[in-house]
Amino acid sequence: MSEHRRDGTRTAGQRSSALAGRERLHPDRPEWAAGDIPPHRRPLPLITRDALTVRTARPTHDRLAALNEERHVGTWTPEVARLREQGAAIRRETLPDLEKYLAQLTGNVERNGGVVHRAATPAEARAVIERIARENGVRLAVKSKSMATEEIHLNAHLTAQGIEVVETDLGEYIVQLADERPSHIVGPALHKSRQDVADLFGQLAGDEVSGEPEDLASFARTRLRADFKAADMGISGVNFAAADTGTLALVTNEGNADMVTSQPRVHVAVMTVEKVIPRFADLGVLIPLLCDAATKQRVSVYQTLLNGPRREGETDGPEQLHLVILDNGRTKALGTPQEEVLACIRCGNCQISCPVYRTVGGGHPYSAVYGGPIGAVLSPLLGERPNQDSDLPFLSSLCGACYDACPVKIPIPDLLVNLRAAHERRQPAARTARAGWRAWALAWRTETGFRATMAGARLAGRLLPDGVLARLPGPGRGWARGRALPPLREAGAFRRWFRRQEESRDRDRRQG
Ligand code: SF4
Repeated sequence: MSEHRRDGTRTAGQRSSALAGRERLHPDRPEWAAGDIPPHRRPLPLITRDALTVRTARPTHDRLAALNEERHVGTWTPEVARLREQGAAIRRETLPDLEKYLAQLTGNVERNGGVVHRAATPAEARAVIERIARENGVRLAVKSKSMATEEIHLNAHLTAQGIEVVETDLGEYIVQLADERPSHIVGPALHKSRQDVADLFGQLAGDEVSGEPEDLASFARTRLRADFKAADMGISGVNFAAADTGTLALVTNEGNADMVTSQPRVHVAVMTVEKVIPRFADLGVLIPLLCDAATKQRVSVYQTLLNGPRREGETDGPEQLHLVILDNGRTKALGTPQEEVLACIRCGNCQISCPVYRTVGGGHPYSAVYGGPIGAVLSPLLGERPNQDSDLPFLSSLCGACYDACPVKIPIPDLLVNLRAAHERRQPAARTARAGWRAWALAWRTETGFRATMAGARLAGRLLPDGVLARLPGPGRGWARGRALPPLREAGAFRRWFRRQEESRDRDRRQG
């Protein structure tokens, strides 16, 4: 703690953290009011057109497309296919009786020496964490990657309370420095190039930083080491929480979660209600399944299993372990067809497989905390009053690739259709729009109709001037605002692509 003054603050020269750097990067940034969502985390307007052209979307698209190619998303080896069946069953076992499993988990975490807090809303979760921080005189918190804390805007809240928060997952560290949102559940900085990162680090260091991966990693490691040593509180997410033992499992590749959960004297783990699993033994199925779907690893580099705070005679671990269990509208989905979404293990595979999200990026264009097809189903359900008017369920081609890719077999296309139908029942589309959709459906019922409309669209694309949508008159004007009309590919491109996919799958099957 030598970097702190006597009154607990740090001198500018002593501060090494990401936040200290960000202050230099954004000298004009207004202070955030307590509890306010900072500007970069506020919902964005629908910016589909921008998302297709801005520079953040392109690298994301290219990388996700490359990952998709590499991994043959949606094809499962026999071993993983077996795990997939088991994993899908395990994830649904808790849902009919979620409270029972949460009570069992609570009892066991407390028996292990931890303290459990239930939070119905993001405000309650933030208040609990703030109170823990205040009671322990926390000035600096280090965090490992956690979507639940993204969901409750925890960083902004703690920062507004004068508590410095530093992300320690490399991708999260980069997006925190850039003052942005994560673009993908598993790869938060997927949209950044090496040079982008080198520039960010260079601004932080006040000197040029090489774009070599080793140098970038070494730079972050050196900076973060000082923060790990100085932090009073560690904040983490939870990948799975075993009800029968009270074990909290974290699956990571960088080792930062081990530092966050063992070095500071207070550890706060934040999980959402559905992360509970029945048995410790289920980790043997779910961890390999998650690793295979998320990063195509057989198992991640680190699996951190936490069974309470440090006990007498132990050499590391926090003095206090707090588990915050957040609901935020999830239990309202229980017993409805949408409860399937609670089986998700946050692998991000559906985002990689989705042709829409692969093109426009993750949470950036659609302003959702959870990107990708699963985000389109989950995000509208969150909050005290689900956002029934959300556009998200409509932003999908319903091609079904996300279902093929999902390691726990969540029928995302069905869920999207349910949400669309519910929306249509509440707010029927205008008669003209309905007539248009009907005509389209009728035309595409036959191959001839399909070919004729596509040929017409290609011709229109060649003849119509650029930006024609922006000038659409009448009732279509509102719909067209913010949309682009990309040129249609030449005929047969999809069929050729599809044939290549089929051939590649056949090859894989033959090889075993
Ligand atoms: S819905 Fe399935 S594929 Fe998508 S993140 Fe969740 S578990 Fe992964």
